Amino acid sequence: MLSTHVRSMFSGWQLFQVPRRAVGYLLAVDALALLIVLISTLQVTVTVSEIVTASVLAGCGVAHTELASTIEKARRAVAGQGHVDLASVWVFAGVLLLPTPLAAAVIAVIYAHYQWRNPFVAWHRRVFGISVMIIAGKVAAMLLDLVGGAGHLFGPTIAPLTVLVVVAALVTFSALDVAMIAIRVLLYGTPGVTVRKGFSDPSKHMLEISTLFYGALLAFALSYSPALVVLALPPVLMLHRSVLLKQVEEKARKDSKTGLLNSEGWHERANRERSRAVRASETFGLLMVDLDHFKRVNDTYGHVAGDAVLKAVADAISKEVRDYDAVGRFGGEEFVVLLPGMSDDDGVGVAERIRHAVTQLVVEAPVEGATTVIRNLSASIGVSTFPAAGDDIEPLLLAADAALYQAKNGGRNQVVSSTALVKPVLAVAA
Ligand code: GH3
Ligand code: MG
Ligand code: MG
Repeated sequence: MLSTHVRSMFSGWQLFQVPRRAVGYLLAVDALALLIVLISTLQVTVTVSEIVTASVLAGCGVAHTELASTIEKARRAVAGQGHVDLASVWVFAGVLLLPTPLAAAVIAVIYAHYQWRNPFVAWHRRVFGISVMIIAGKVAAMLLDLVGGAGHLFGPTIAPLTVLVVVAALVTFSALDVAMIAIRVLLYGTPGVTVRKGFSDPSKHMLEISTLFYGALLAFALSYSPALVVLALPPVLMLHRSVLLKQVEEKARKDSKTGLLNSEGWHERANRERSRAVRASETFGLLMVDLDHFKRVNDTYGHVAGDAVLKAVADAISKEVRDYDAVGRFGGEEFVVLLPGMSDDDGVGVAERIRHAVTQLVVEAPVEGATTVIRNLSASIGVSTFPAAGDDIEPLLLAADAALYQAKNGGRNQVVSSTALVKPVLAVAA
């Protein structure tokens, strides 16, 4: 009773719209971070030069956010959310050089300012992010303490061991950061973001790790003179710009409705795969998937609901194939799948799995402000195989399309392989 009352009092707070088990986790992490800061504040004495370094790092972080705001605006416009966090350059330099309370202050100032300028996630999520970095930073700093602490390590001469310890601290920081955020995503994620999706992109990890390496380099430089920070900001901004460029390139290959490859992206992958198959004398399969009577879905529930079905089918196909299979949508309600290394029988097997998965779909789709459930979907699938059905992508697409046409004619909700079509023709010719 009371707890319901309290919940309703705070229902305006987004934290209370988070599932309960996740609230517990978020608050526990926040509390641990707070405890770390409080205890360390009682234990350490802070020097003037440390306060200067902290101010310089926090100032750089704030300046970075301001100077990158046009880059971020452009990035959001073309690539949507999924902010790339390069501020960890300043954070990690602070973690290495500063006592815990000051490192925590640098983190808090940079991300509070970032949140004020870019209020796209709820405050509790931002506070959680800050807490995660404080905890990961503390553990990384404890590693340094094992070999004498920052004051000892960052002196006029740098021993090889120092570099090694700094790399270990870097890996620890990064691993803890990823682990704590992965747990958050497991308990309560953004719709459509799974742990697998969010953390499986190696280039994202590479970017984050290299940002930390740069932060470590900055820490060594700042231990000589805080003025060296002037040399650090322009490269970070350039890095930020190049990340934007990469995201724009990726976006140009994607179908925005389903997140699959678009025609350009798919053809690029398909041509690459064909060259590889030729070199290695391998086969590959190609599927063309077309929803049955999709027009009825649009006519009954409207286009927006139709789009939700397309997205659900796209996800179902992606789930049934391997990560390195290329799934594309060229517009409309047709999907193409390229299956490296697969023979005709393999391709038919995968197509059958996809066909079955589509029949099992239960799609919650928006219809005029409410949601409706759409089921009893089906798809027809044409299969062709390289090189039997064609030695280039276009003839293979035509062959799969001819097989698909047969599947539609045969009554829909079925898989037809192009070999089944080729054989009778050959028989007649013979
Ligand atoms: P069949 O079993 O013969 O494939 O019948 P069908 O109704 O699926 O095929 P048809 O090609 O006649 O119609 C395809 C429909 O797909 C027509 C169009 O309204 C719809 N469509 C194409 N692209 C989109 C899209 O992006 N979103 C939505 N909601 N519908 C689309
Ligand atoms: Mg159709
Ligand atoms: Mg069609």
